[in-house]
Amino acid sequence: MNLIHDTHADDLERLTRAYGSELFARLDNRGPVLLTPGWWDDRLMEWTMAQEAVKLQLFRFIDVLPLLEEPGTIGRHLREYFEEAGQVLPGWARQGLRWMPRSGLGARLVAWAARTNARRMARRFIAGSNLDEALAAVARLRRRKLAFTVDLLGEATITEAEAVQHQEEIIELIKGLAETVNTASPIALIDGDPEGPLPRVNVSVKLTSLYSQFDAIDPEGTSRAMRERLRPILRTARENHAFINFDMEQYVCKDLTLHIFREILEEDEFADWSDVGIAIQAYLRDCERDLGELAAWAQRRGRPIWVRLIKGAYWDYETVKAAQENWPVPVLTDKWETDANYEHLTRFLLENHTLLRPAFGSHNIRSLAHALACAQMMDLPPGSFEVQMLYGMAEPVKEALVGLGQRVRVYTPYGELLPGMAYLVRRLLENTANESFLRESFTEHVPEEQLLMNPVEYEDRGSAERESAGARSALETFANEPLSDFSKGDAREAMKTALDQVRGQLGQTYPLLIGGSAVATPATIDSINPSHMKEIVGRCGRATVAQAQAAIAAAGRAFPSWRDTDPEVRADYLVRAAGVIRRRRFELAAWQVFECGKQWREADADVAESIDYCAYYAGEMRRLALPRHADVPGEENEYFYEPRGVTVVIAPWNFPMAILCGMTSAALVTGNTVVMKPAEQSAVVGAKLMEVFQEVGLPAGVVNYLPGIGEEIGPALVNHPDVAMIAFTGSRGVGLLLNRQAAEQAPAQDHVKRVLAEMGGKNAIIIDDDADLDEAVHGVAASAFGYQGQKCSACSRVIVLETLYEPFLTRLVEATRSLKIAPAEDPGCSIGPVIDAEARRRILDFVEKGKRQARLVYAGDPGPLTAEGYYIGPHIFAEVDPKATIAQEEIFGPVLAVVKVRDLDEALAVANGTQYALTGGLYSRSPANIRKVRRQFRVGNLYINRKITGALVHRQPFGGFKLSGIGSKAGGPDYLLQFVLPRAITENTMRRGFAPAAENSV
Ligand SMILES: Cc1cc2nc3c(=O)[nH]c(=O)nc-3n(C[C@H](O)[C@H](O)[C@H](O)COP(=O)(O)OP(=O)(O)OC[C@H]3O[C@@H](n4cnc5c(N)ncnc54)[C@H](O)[C@@H]3O)c2cc1C
Repeated sequence: MNLIHDTHADDLERLTRAYGSELFARLDNRGPVLLTPGWWDDRLMEWTMAQEAVKLQLFRFIDVLPLLEEPGTIGRHLREYFEEAGQVLPGWARQGLRWMPRSGLGARLVAWAARTNARRMARRFIAGSNLDEALAAVARLRRRKLAFTVDLLGEATITEAEAVQHQEEIIELIKGLAETVNTASPIALIDGDPEGPLPRVNVSVKLTSLYSQFDAIDPEGTSRAMRERLRPILRTARENHAFINFDMEQYVCKDLTLHIFREILEEDEFADWSDVGIAIQAYLRDCERDLGELAAWAQRRGRPIWVRLIKGAYWDYETVKAAQENWPVPVLTDKWETDANYEHLTRFLLENHTLLRPAFGSHNIRSLAHALACAQMMDLPPGSFEVQMLYGMAEPVKEALVGLGQRVRVYTPYGELLPGMAYLVRRLLENTANESFLRESFTEHVPEEQLLMNPVEYEDRGSAERESAGARSALETFANEPLSDFSKGDAREAMKTALDQVRGQLGQTYPLLIGGSAVATPATIDSINPSHMKEIVGRCGRATVAQAQAAIAAAGRAFPSWRDTDPEVRADYLVRAAGVIRRRRFELAAWQVFECGKQWREADADVAESIDYCAYYAGEMRRLALPRHADVPGEENEYFYEPRGVTVVIAPWNFPMAILCGMTSAALVTGNTVVMKPAEQSAVVGAKLMEVFQEVGLPAGVVNYLPGIGEEIGPALVNHPDVAMIAFTGSRGVGLLLNRQAAEQAPAQDHVKRVLAEMGGKNAIIIDDDADLDEAVHGVAASAFGYQGQKCSACSRVIVLETLYEPFLTRLVEATRSLKIAPAEDPGCSIGPVIDAEARRRILDFVEKGKRQARLVYAGDPGPLTAEGYYIGPHIFAEVDPKATIAQEEIFGPVLAVVKVRDLDEALAVANGTQYALTGGLYSRSPANIRKVRRQFRVGNLYINRKITGALVHRQPFGGFKLSGIGSKAGGPDYLLQFVLPRAITENTMRRGFAPAAENSV
């Protein structure tokens, strides 16, 4: 059905402009905008908007303000933020900051002024902080003949306790609104439409605020839990003749939100209900398909639903997120495209209004005029669609529309400022964005003619910007392999299929591979699935000492010709290996799920990291191989690298492929030959990596696969006189032992062995007194309990400043309680098993010690799973003495020590007070404190305001010092240098006074 044919396009355009001009004329009749109460805020915003740096600092200050209690702290933040804005501040402002009182009455006045102004700004967009204020706000709206939809502020909750509380508050909200509004006298314009009476009570909900484990990786589990939570809300709504709208959030939530919306409305109880709607974002590339599917679904269901068409509020977030993840950008990237798409979808909705009843959410006069014009051209009866706008925005436009007899509904948020901050910041961003319609019309005074232009007329602009962005990315030589986006059905299906296929291959035997030939062993090692300990993933060869020696001999034989192979050719092998891993990525991830108890995302990240190592080290080798000359006339000076020789790679099970692949590929590409010993617990994944190296056709003996028991073959490998280098990642005890053994010179040995050892940590995160609690709790839980705390980068200590200690601890415990303990193959698994029985016993010993030394505040219970696999629930100890065993020794399990400190100096002393220096973190919103911690928290990898695990090749080269490691960082620019010997050759090229011209040096 397409009612507006091309022949009508001109008419539509004329009518759109006529409506637009009419609306503008009505605004002008309302007198100067200057008289509106928001004028002073507008001036302030106008001034800040002129400078991006000031805008950034202002928004950051507003964001942290609700958490600050002390007047002195408020003043300090104000100073720190605006000092960062530096030179762009006018002179008077810089003087003001300098002389700002730091204590006493003056500081209190500054704090009061900051709070009052921020509150006023917030109150522009947020109708109140409690139900009574919300009720008063909707009563005021109704007096202006405006309908409402109320939103209880809050999103992305991290604890189930908060999610349940949010649900209860929404139910109270519906009842409270119904009590007052349903009995009020009717207003014809807003309380009915051509189909009959409309629910007066209208509430908008955000799904992520109602379930803490909302995660698109597990659509079925999330939908089940979510519907459980939604049913009482929808039931209350029906009982009270109320309407529920599902808001749309970030792109990763989109498909799942649509899925849950449809599933719950198909349930018997709600199958005949029409007082529901969902928001659809026109800035998304795939929203047309979504709308089409929604229309078909509504037809099948036999009941209409409402669709609120909006452009979308997360544009900045989506573009940044896509760039960070190296994912396709899901949103349109030119503003005119979004506007044009909005108009296109407007037509679609109006054409399908009997199935999808349209609500146009926009403040853009052109977009709305287009909707009005379309509806008129289609002869739709008045009231068959509505316009929706946000509270506190475009007030004159609302009045103008009401004046035209149009139903306008106002999205009216209320609630505490802290949970509402994300909403407020979105509104501030929206109002100050360069391309915002409101900014262009009310602040920049762009001519009406231009504001009413058809968006497609802008088409030619913007392409220049796109080209320059393209040129920028072409300059980047290395890009990280994107992680799989499990919010996409394709990725989930691929993973499920891979799990099924791999399940069918469990229990096979994997021999050694020495000098290109499979070698059987007298005994094998059973690799057990830690999630289901009765399941054998595979049987791998258990190398003997003689076989270890044979592997070294094979590597030794392969060395000379591999050493002399062109580095370009060696690099090409790695690039091809990256390609094979990429092709097999889901299968290789599935093996890790079964063999190591890795959750989907963890396994996928490990495989992506393996690809990164191959690609990155290939590039690094090409860089190292560039000729380096420092010639002078008559003298040629060449500097170059050559490999060391046979390298023994001993890898752990916790990154079963990435670390093994990283160390091996670095050794290979630099021209060394390798004896590759995977951990006993992950030898099958090691065999799979060996398959990759075989597939790319590495010459025989260049890599040898030698699974075995460390205690049995370790000494034979490390002490062997023909071994040039040992690359190890694992525990401190073994690393130091290897280092000692390797230092011994065997009788026939003509070189000193090089040892690289990456050995664990006791990593801490500091929580400053102004930290964003949501972010901090989420980041700490992810860092401490991701992959059950079995990462060398995992957080095992959290050091909290005392003013935030109690709220932080309470929320951390609740967030941890909300995590689901499950087998690793379950996509909803947050906490899986630890690697084996021995690990479980060791971790439980630490827990027992912890109970004697500190207060156990949370111990997760795996319940019946305990008998199924090696499960341990997460444990949190509070008030831990920084010198206690659990605060000093590496546990390598889901056990977290929380330490309380008075101030940042003490926090730093505690943080640095262990023998390790691997990773560390800080959550703070104070620029000065961030600067201080950057300098003084001495660890290999410091992360600020994010989790401390998940280092990416090239972006976060990984590795520590003190007793955390020997050598330079994996995935960084110095790593390969450790695998080579530098040589310099000088040739005197002068003969009897003449010399060739000097070469260009690099
Ligand atoms: C009643 C109501 C409910 C809402 N509910 C939701 C919701 O559930 N979910 C949600 O996400 N938003 C929601 N919003 C917010 C809404 O997305 C924004 O208010 C809206 O995008 C602003 O668009 P506009 O037409 O008013 O202004 P305009 O100034 O015309 O458009 C601004 C919009 O254009 C888009 N844009 C900006 N720059 C670019 C660019 N370079 N390339 C491409 N596109 C660009 C962005 O979407 C931006 O918000 C709601 C808004 C209203 C009025």
